Amino acid sequence: MFSKNELVTIEITDITDEGSGVGKAEGFTVFVPETAVGDRVRARLVKLQRSFAYGIVEELLAPSLDRIASDCTVYRQCGGCSLRHITYGAELRIKQNWVEQHLRRIGNITTPVLPIRGSPAQNGYRNKTQCPVRSDGQAVRLGMFGKRSHRVIPCTNCRLQPAHFEPILLAVQAFIEECGISVYNEENHTGLLRHVYIRTAEATGETMVCLVVNGDSLPHSEVLAKRLTACCPSVKSIVLNCNKARTNVILGKACKTLWGNDSITDILCGLKISLSPLSFYQVNRAGAEQLYGVAGEFAALTGSELLLDLYCGTGTIGLSMAARARELVGVEIIAEAVENARQNARENGITNARFLCDDAKGAAAKLRAEGLTPDVVVLDPPRKGCEHEVLETVAAMFPARIVMVSCNSATLARDLAALELLGYQTVRVQPMDMFPRTAHVECVCLLTKSRRNAIT
Ligand code: SAH
Repeated sequence: MFSKNELVTIEITDITDEGSGVGKAEGFTVFVPETAVGDRVRARLVKLQRSFAYGIVEELLAPSLDRIASDCTVYRQCGGCSLRHITYGAELRIKQNWVEQHLRRIGNITTPVLPIRGSPAQNGYRNKTQCPVRSDGQAVRLGMFGKRSHRVIPCTNCRLQPAHFEPILLAVQAFIEECGISVYNEENHTGLLRHVYIRTAEATGETMVCLVVNGDSLPHSEVLAKRLTACCPSVKSIVLNCNKARTNVILGKACKTLWGNDSITDILCGLKISLSPLSFYQVNRAGAEQLYGVAGEFAALTGSELLLDLYCGTGTIGLSMAARARELVGVEIIAEAVENARQNARENGITNARFLCDDAKGAAAKLRAEGLTPDVVVLDPPRKGCEHEVLETVAAMFPARIVMVSCNSATLARDLAALELLGYQTVRVQPMDMFPRTAHVECVCLLTKSRRNAIT
C-alpha cells in the first residue's frame, strides 16, 4: 500500500474526461493532471483513496510526443484549459475517444463515430467572458476562478478571449479603484460588483459590457461609460445585471441598460442575430457556423417540412434552416431569448417561423396535443440533456428525423439510448470541437425512425 507524499513512477496511458492524465503504479490507478499520454513521470501522491490516488508531477522523466509548452502564465492555477499542454492534433484524438467511449459505455450506441472536426480557431475564439471580481484584502482581483475553488486568479488576457477584452477589463478595474466601488465577498454576501461579463458580436465588432451587481444600481456609471467607450470604441452597450441572491449562478434576472443599446447584433450563417445579455449564444461563432452546417445537412430539408426546434435560444439553428422548411416552430424557456428569436425572424424577413416561450417538456406536450406533426425535430438541450418526457413526446410525434446537438457526450449517450428504445436509430454521430484547449466537446447526431424498433 502507498502512503501520502510517496513518489511513484508512472506511464500515462489515458486522459480522463476532465482532462487529467491517468496511469498505474503497481496496478494502482493514479490521476495526474497536466500530463499527456506517453509521458513517464515521477509523481507525488497527494491524496489517497481506497482504489485510486491523485498525484502531481514531481519530475517529467520522458515527455510524450504530444506535449507542448503551455503559452499561458496562469495555466496551472486556472481550471479552464486542461489540454493546453498538448498538441491540438492530440487534443482532437482525445475528444474523439471521449465521444466514442461515452456513447458505447453509457448508451450502448454502436454507430461508428465520424472523425471529429476541429475548430477554425484554437485561441481567441470565445466571444464571451464572465470574470469574477473579488478582493484579496488589499487589491481588487479580476480574472478566473481557480481549479475547483472560488479564489480569483488575476488574469485579464485569457488566451481564449479576443484581444479587445483586456482593455475593457483593465478599464473596469481602474474604475473600481478610482471610484471606490466595493467588490463582492461571497462569504458574507456583501460588496457590490460580482462579475464583469463581456460579449462581442464578432462579425460586426459590436461589444456589450455587463456589470453584475449585488444591488440595484452602480454609482458613477457615467464615468465608467466614458472610460469604456474611450478605451474600446466597439462598446455599443453597457448593461447592469442585478443579482442579489446568495448563489453561484452568475446572472440575475433583471437587466438595466446603463448606456447605449439593449442588445448587440452579430451575423451568423448569413443571418442578423440580435443578442441580449440573458440570451444563450454559442461562444465560438466560427465553430457554430460549422455546427449549424452539419445540423442542416442532417436535417436534409427540401422546403416542404415542418421543423420543430426545441431549446432554440435566440432561434439560430432553426432560422439558419428556415428557408428550406415549410414552417419553423421554436421553443425556448428564457423570455429575452424568445424576444431575440422573434426579432431575428423579423429582421431577416423570415415569415414562416413562430416561437414559444415555454419549458420544452410542457411545450412539446401541448404541441403534440394540438396535433403538430413535425417532419424534423432539432434538440439542443443544456448540459444536463433532455428530460425523458421530452424524448417520449418527440418520439410520439413521429418525426422522420431527429437532429440532436449536445455539448455533453455523457448525457447525449443517455438520451440517444432513450430515443433508440422509443423507435429511433442513431445513424450519424459527428463530434465537433467548439471549445479548443478545454475538456469540452460538442456533437451533432442524426436519428431516423427505425423500422426495427418502430412503436405503433
Ligand atoms: N439552440 C440554441 C441554444 C442552445 S443552448 C443555439 O444553438 O444557440 C440550450 C438552450 O435551452 C438555452 O437557450 C436555454 O435557455 C434553453 N433551455 C434550458 N432549459 C430549457 C427547458 N427546460 N425548456 C426550454 N428551453 C430550455
